[in-house]
Parts: sequence; C-alpha cells; structure tokens
Amino acid sequence: MNVFEKIVAGEIPCRKVLENDKFLAFYDIAPKARVHVLAIPKKCVKDFQEADSKLLGELSAFVQEVVKVLEIDKIGYRIVSNIGADGGQEVPHLHFHILGGEKLGSFC
Ligand code: AMP
Repeated sequence: MNVFEKIVAGEIPCRKVLENDKFLAFYDIAPKARVHVLAIPKKCVKDFQEADSKLLGELSAFVQEVVKVLEIDKIGYRIVSNIGADGGQEVPHLHFHILGGEKLGSFC
C-alpha cells in the first residue's frame, strides 16, 4: 500500500479537511504554502493520466468544496497535479495539491 492508501485506511494519521465516500482532503505534511492541502480519491488510481473523466470531474467538484471549507475560494488558490518521473510525482496515487492562503509566486 502507498502512503495515501494507508491514510485512507486509517493506518497513518492525517489532518483531515473534508471527506466523503469517494474522496479525502488533508493537510500536506511538508507544506509549500501557508495553506497546502492534498485532495485524493480513496480508491487508488496512479495519476492524472490514468484517471477517467468521471473521476476527474468528481474530484474537481470535491476540490471546489474543499477550498470553501478552507475559506480560500474567493481569494484564489492554485491546484497542481504532479505526474510521473519528469513531473516530480513522489506518491503514485492521484492527488491535487491545493496551495494558497498567501500571494503565491509566479509559476509559469
Ligand atoms: P507528489 O510529489 O506530487 O507525489 O506529492 C506528494 C506529497 O505528499 C508531498 O507534498 C508530501 O509532502 C506529501 N506527503 C507525503 N506523506 C504524507 C503524509 N503522511 N501526510 C501528508 N502529506 C504527505
């Protein structure tokens, strides 16, 4: 099991933000911004490239709810998904990084 599957299974603790039957959002253990939360599907899919459009649509709607809970929906935020080796993905379990809570530097 990867680390996110262990979090879903309750074997590793997390600082939970929001959860439903399919998705979980929790604070990143090594934050890269004042607010840094990860949104994942509970069922493991390796990455964005392997995910079907239904799952991505549902995960996107979940992210829209998560940012409301974080109260950054109106002030803005950034979502990032690292994919594979060149994308710098460390955990092989689809996730969106939600970054915000401060003015983020230009990215690209
Ligand atoms: P990525 O490089 O896109 O695969 O991102 C994986 C992210 O998972 C990194 O930002 C890590 O800090 C984060 N991470 C790894 N283990 C944990 C954990 N136990 N709890 C919360 N975040 C974690």
